[in-house]
Amino acid sequence: MTRTIVNPADGKVVTTVESSTIEQTDAAIARAAEAQREWARLAPADRGRMLRRFADAVDGAVEELAALEVRNSGHPITQARWEAAHVRDVLEYYSASPERLFGRQIPVAGGLDVTFQEPLGVVGVITPWNFPMTIASWGFAPALAAGNAVVLKPADWTPLTSLRLGELALTAGLPEGLFQVVPGAGSVVGERFVTNETVRKVVFTGSTEVGKRIMAGCAEQVKRVTLELGGKSANIVFADADLERAAATAPYGVFENAGQDCCARSRILVERSVYDRFMELLEPAVANVRVGDPNDESTEMGPLVAREHLDRVRSFVPDDADVAFRGSAPTGDGFWFAPTVLTPARDARTARDEIFGPVVSVFPFDDEADAVGFANASRFGLSGSIWTRDLSRGIRVARAVESGNLSVNSHSSVRYSTPFGGFKQSGLGRELGPDAPLAFTETKNVFLAVD
Ligand code: NAP
Ligand code: MG
Repeated sequence: MTRTIVNPADGKVVTTVESSTIEQTDAAIARAAEAQREWARLAPADRGRMLRRFADAVDGAVEELAALEVRNSGHPITQARWEAAHVRDVLEYYSASPERLFGRQIPVAGGLDVTFQEPLGVVGVITPWNFPMTIASWGFAPALAAGNAVVLKPADWTPLTSLRLGELALTAGLPEGLFQVVPGAGSVVGERFVTNETVRKVVFTGSTEVGKRIMAGCAEQVKRVTLELGGKSANIVFADADLERAAATAPYGVFENAGQDCCARSRILVERSVYDRFMELLEPAVANVRVGDPNDESTEMGPLVAREHLDRVRSFVPDDADVAFRGSAPTGDGFWFAPTVLTPARDARTARDEIFGPVVSVFPFDDEADAVGFANASRFGLSGSIWTRDLSRGIRVARAVESGNLSVNSHSSVRYSTPFGGFKQSGLGRELGPDAPLAFTETKNVFLAVD
């Protein structure tokens, strides 16, 4: 079976990719297990050096990877370049880990007690189509650094940059079989990562619905699992905030990557006393978002990833929707959807469900307690922003919002050196940051009797 890859900006066929079978998936997992045994035996400094070479290979291919992501995913070229460079940075950051996977020496009677952080073996990484290469690297880089082998299943719509990263790993000198990209359907390759006993951990990023099935499947073997799932994050704007800045940045907090971002601040909560003024400022900010040809250096937002996804996003904005205002988007071929601002009721479907497109809902709130209560009235808890000039309030609200990644007076949420992940149904476990490699190890305790 083959999968046809389509350019989201013009709907034209880019290439085809062969889908892997269950037998091919099992064979890749078996090769990974063999490669892992050799990898774990290498000196830590040698493993670190090889990961730095892999990072160098990615560095040399930033333009190529970026161009590939533009064709496959429709990401604006400046964003795609950032993504490729981020993969390099993640590899570089974790290349220091093999020599820093410290165990502990614990005082006990009668001998010496030490702990070791042992690799798990083979790790299966399953990625979504929204940020194909960056999310893949959050799994494979710390997993490899901790002494594991990795099999990576990219999303069926967007496998091209992952396949290229697999080739770059080999040219950089990583052992054959250690990092393999296995393209194919989630129901075939992804499910096999869950059911094949040689895979000791599954790292899954995608929808909450599929994440729950993976968690249930992994329970069968008590298989380790990390989940990064959906979000419906709040951008809370208090009356004392720098309103100009809050309004100017709000579109970028939700429309980046055409809203196909699990961290999208897709609910804007505005203190009632400044609601009208905020909406006056937001309208031109939304109109100014540059939506168009992903190859254009000045483009800020490209198309949606696929026709099916465009249809899904459209279903959230029927003709009678409460549209406050919209930005613009190209017409014609490609999967375009203009940035859209809604003012629905708090219990509307658009207010609760993740749309995963360039659609944001704005709501007035009465006071701090009301803002926190509504921000938390969600089954999700991934990210969020708080705009205020009152530092105490910024800290108070950041502590009160049930979410894994918050920013005050900014919309930043992802840095490779800080932990990332969700509360509630947004996920389980954390990626990135200094502790990520530990999530790919088992702690082993050894007691040595001393006479
Ligand atoms: P998805 O349908 O859950 O798919 C994600 C990945 O899982 C794809 O590689 C998919 O393969 C695979 N898959 C599908 N069914 C599977 C199964 N039964 N067993 C194993 N693997 C399976 O999600 P998506 O449509 O790609 O992405 C959109 C969703 O992901 C949104 O809800 C978004 O919030 C979430 N997301 C979360 C984060 C985060 O970091 N928290 C990041 C990005 C996206 P196929 O491509 O072959 O279907
Ligand atoms: Mg899907």
